[in-house]
Amino acid sequence: MLGTLLCALFFHRMKQHRDIVIIGAGAAGLMCGIMTARECLAMGLDARITLLDGAKKIGAKILVAGGGRCNVTHHKVLPKDYAGASRNAIKKVLKAFSEHDTMRFFEELGVELKQEDTGKMFPVTDSAQTVLSALIDECDRLGVMIRNPWRVGTVKRYADRFEIESSDDRNEPILADRVVLATGGMALPRTGSDGAGYRFAKFIGHSTTERIFPSLVPLVVDERSSWIRELSGISARVNLQVHSGTGKRLASFTNEMLCTHFGLSGPGVLDISRWYLDAKDNDPEVSLVINWIDDVSGEVFDQELQGLGKRTVAGFLRERLPERLARALCEQAGIDPSSPGHALTREHRKALVQLVTQCAILIERDRGFTFAEVTAGGVPLSEVATSTMMSRACDDLWLIGEILDVDGRIGGFNFQWAWASGTVAGRSIARSLVDADSNQA
Ligand SMILES: Cc1cc2nc3c(=O)[nH]c(=O)nc-3n(C[C@H](O)[C@H](O)[C@H](O)COP(=O)(O)OP(=O)(O)OC[C@H]3O[C@@H](n4cnc5c(N)ncnc54)[C@H](O)[C@@H]3O)c2cc1C
Repeated sequence: MLGTLLCALFFHRMKQHRDIVIIGAGAAGLMCGIMTARECLAMGLDARITLLDGAKKIGAKILVAGGGRCNVTHHKVLPKDYAGASRNAIKKVLKAFSEHDTMRFFEELGVELKQEDTGKMFPVTDSAQTVLSALIDECDRLGVMIRNPWRVGTVKRYADRFEIESSDDRNEPILADRVVLATGGMALPRTGSDGAGYRFAKFIGHSTTERIFPSLVPLVVDERSSWIRELSGISARVNLQVHSGTGKRLASFTNEMLCTHFGLSGPGVLDISRWYLDAKDNDPEVSLVINWIDDVSGEVFDQELQGLGKRTVAGFLRERLPERLARALCEQAGIDPSSPGHALTREHRKALVQLVTQCAILIERDRGFTFAEVTAGGVPLSEVATSTMMSRACDDLWLIGEILDVDGRIGGFNFQWAWASGTVAGRSIARSLVDADSNQA
């Protein structure tokens, strides 16, 4: 009797053909497609899963990530590596699919990963294509359809279904029972992530944060700090801090920094950029401060300078910094680099200590979304249930990945967010089909 009932329920489910449409086949969308399909298969549910993407070639961001090597995750992922939404809420999503789950997932797909000294995880092939191909192959294996280029123009909610219209007249509208917004943010808009998803979300009843701005973005220095541009090509491990107008330390990162023809770049600058830009919006007096010898305090450096004796200042600085940089710092402090330490006046010494350990750089602007790796701001995470990623504003809708107000620092954290939120949504979509079936039964 029980067997017959279970059988009837199984066939009932098989008959209930559902259309699940995921808009955006980036990291989050691909992961969501795979996880939804796997769960549906495991539960004996019949679902047609379609990924729609406006790009001619999908996975552009996966391919450019990590300099073409794709830093898929970090060996240790913590909520404090993220900004935007509340860290508690972020933690819930990350816990449901951890960095270890990501490593296992890719290994099962045949993508072996390696850990670098920085803690970043890369495919052993050092090729992002390995990661993208594995995801696409898994979609194929599971029967997840990828339709591209299929740029979505509008998403409308009717009583029990969604209608998705293309911005291209040649594509017929698509009806869907479940919809996932995985359209990303606005970083690197030429890849197709241009903020259209915010429009869809708002139309359906969501909001976006007051500010949506580039994160992990290079910074253009002001004319008054243009000496930095002369150092183009020089990189150094530095400590970068954001100070409020009153001198309070708001953020601090120690990492490599690269001086360029426009200003500052490199991982340290990308990481601090988010905090600088955020603070600058509220406080025009905010400053970016560099300690060129990150582990040495001003006091210690001052004492070292006082003990130089006959050694030249430039010679001393060269032990720690590239020669061109050492010379530039001396020049900025008004010191002849070849002068011996004992000849330094107190004023010159203080000026050098300030420049080396507390060098305030005036920033004109950031380089915008075109050069940003990620978007700060978006749809508030509080507008989805973090146990499912399901919208609180609209039934049968899920939001995942960068469209949400969550951004990570450099190191694989943004992909980890995409994999985790995509997985949570995928599992929840399958469960929602079971729930709908049992309500009907
Ligand atoms: C240069 C660069 C390097 C990076 N390196 C790393 C790294 O090494 N490690 C890391 O963790 N993170 C990295 N990131 C960040 C990471 O790539 C993103 O956070 C992540 O890809 C976001 O995934 P997503 O699926 O949410 O969005 P996206 O990857 O942006 O995908 C969104 C998809 O939606 C599609 N789409 C948008 N609008 C529409 C529409 N209207 N109709 C149809 N399709 C649409 C887009 O074409 C796109 O394919 C990097 C980013 C950049 C720009």
